[in-house]
Amino acid sequence: SPSFHGRHVTVAGLGVSGIPAAKVLHGLGAKVTVVNDGDDARAREQAAQLQALGVTVRLGDGATLPEGTDLIVTAPGWKPDKPLFVAAAKAGVPVWGDVELAWRLRGPDAAPWLCVTGTNGKTTTVQMLASILTAAGLRTAAVGNIGVSLLDAVLGDEPYDVLAVELSSYQLHWAPSLRAHSAAVLNLAPDHLDWHGSMEAYAADKGRIYEGNRVACVYNVADGATEDLVREADVEEGCRAVGFTLGPPAPSQLGVVEGLLVDRAFVENRQRNAQELAEVSDVRPSAPHNIANALAAAALARAFGVAPAAVREGLRAFRPDAHRIAHVADVGGVAYVDDSKATNTHAAQASLAAYESIVWIAGGLAKGAVFDELVAGSAKHLRGAVLMGADRALIREALARHAPEVPVVDLDRTDTGAMLQAVTEAQRLAQPGDTVLLAPACASMDMFTNYNQRGDAFAAAVRELEA
Ligand code: ADP
Repeated sequence: SPSFHGRHVTVAGLGVSGIPAAKVLHGLGAKVTVVNDGDDARAREQAAQLQALGVTVRLGDGATLPEGTDLIVTAPGWKPDKPLFVAAAKAGVPVWGDVELAWRLRGPDAAPWLCVTGTNGKTTTVQMLASILTAAGLRTAAVGNIGVSLLDAVLGDEPYDVLAVELSSYQLHWAPSLRAHSAAVLNLAPDHLDWHGSMEAYAADKGRIYEGNRVACVYNVADGATEDLVREADVEEGCRAVGFTLGPPAPSQLGVVEGLLVDRAFVENRQRNAQELAEVSDVRPSAPHNIANALAAAALARAFGVAPAAVREGLRAFRPDAHRIAHVADVGGVAYVDDSKATNTHAAQASLAAYESIVWIAGGLAKGAVFDELVAGSAKHLRGAVLMGADRALIREALARHAPEVPVVDLDRTDTGAMLQAVTEAQRLAQPGDTVLLAPACASMDMFTNYNQRGDAFAAAVRELEA
């Protein structure tokens, strides 16, 4: 790993990635300056802790490049067009994100990385992958935006054979030298375009995950944009393009045949042209998008040499995180399902496709999204809709355009208590056999602290119906 002794490193942003980065770099002998836009009470407290270690901290000035900076290590969320980066580019100062730092600091015999990105399904897929690798007897962890931090995984005492790494488009933007063993892009839908500037720039940042791959670039057959990224990537010789599909797989693909997950990319026995991995019912929930996640995880594990039996065992042992199509309760023959994590239209589309007859609870902060495609594509599944939150009118108007026959209850409120009313209205609209589905297609911050709190409010409201 590179020597940081005496180098002037500017860490951009206090917070979950900045504070550990500053500590690690300081420990390696770098002269560290942390710059931060805000200077509220929390920032001052964090700054005091770092200053006690000998780190310089400048609060309220994240724009100026400190004199003598050799390197910037930035929090992934900082936008590339910030004045700090413009100044860095002019001065020829490189900018690394938290992932790049971890990648550079890993030891010579470090565990290879199996990486996952995509607009939706990252966390689920990485957790499935870690579960499969564990079932194969490998020492591993799900790292990135979840669980163990990348820096801890790379620098800690815990030995790993392989890491299952979740990467956001922001992190990939700032990780120029990352080279994965194998990587998957699950899907590509417009998201975070305000940050990246355009769909092309967003796709290009996601595509970075394939650069320099050694064994396999895993793509989604149903999402041609992911395959395009594989084609454009510069990979090591012998690295293969491996597709996953919900239909029967072509050679070099994983797919589904008569209720079985089947691998036609990594087949051990040359007498056969396909390898059975697991049953569709081994994957929970077995909604189509989640089968896709399982196939992507299986493809990465198979690229790493994991046997079919471990794929099955790992998928069976997997339990989804909270608020991701979580079944809360059945009340009066109606199922109540919490998919609060569906914070964009692409995610909501996946969960609306998973049920036949739905009373849909939606709304929140739209982040510039357009709802026409989602509503038009899901209309035939809708028994009714209950809308709340700041941007609910956008969804109401899309429903009026594409599904005028669907009854809509528009809750003109954005207070936290609205959730109980929403669930009560949904219960009125629902008939036995229906699913009341919280899949907001929007961010939560207009009404709640985060999607967890929104999902918890939904579950609490359902429990009141039960009582
Ligand atoms: P991420 O980490 O990318 O945000 P998660 O695994 O946390 O993804 O899933 C977030 C939400 O996205 C889920 O609640 C579900 O609604 C939806 N989702 C999960 N997998 C997919 C997929 N493969 N395609 C579309 N939507 C998905």
